[in-house]
Amino acid sequence: MIEIPEYIPKGTREEIEEQLKSWVGKKVKRGPTWDWGNQDIDGNRNKVEGTITEIPEHGFTTKNCGCVKVVWDNCHSNTYRIGNGFADVILVEEISIKNSNDPICCGQKMDWINMAYKCSKCWRVK
Ligand SMILES: [Zn+2]
Repeated sequence: MIEIPEYIPKGTREEIEEQLKSWVGKKVKRGPTWDWGNQDIDGNRNKVEGTITEIPEHGFTTKNCGCVKVVWDNCHSNTYRIGNGFADVILVEEISIKNSNDPICCGQKMDWINMAYKCSKCWRVK
């Protein structure tokens, strides 16, 4: 079964496109429904990250999903499916927070200082 991250939007195509507007400028990498070959691979056969540059309206007219335009760090660019079960790309930052065991405060990982977790924004200690 394909695991789609919680934050991938669902709804009508218009609702998804509206939510995706806040994703412009964010870094992404290949997601669980990737079906686009080597577009995110560099000359050393490594996967690269990309940046969302715009949200094209009705990019995939035959699919009930939204669409993001991505420029990859290997200079390739294309549009990819997002929403209603499609996650051709996923956000790099959300992934690193979710995979980490460090506690979260004020929307960021707490720092490990002097044997305790501290938040660098509100200075809460855990
Ligand atoms: Zn905090």
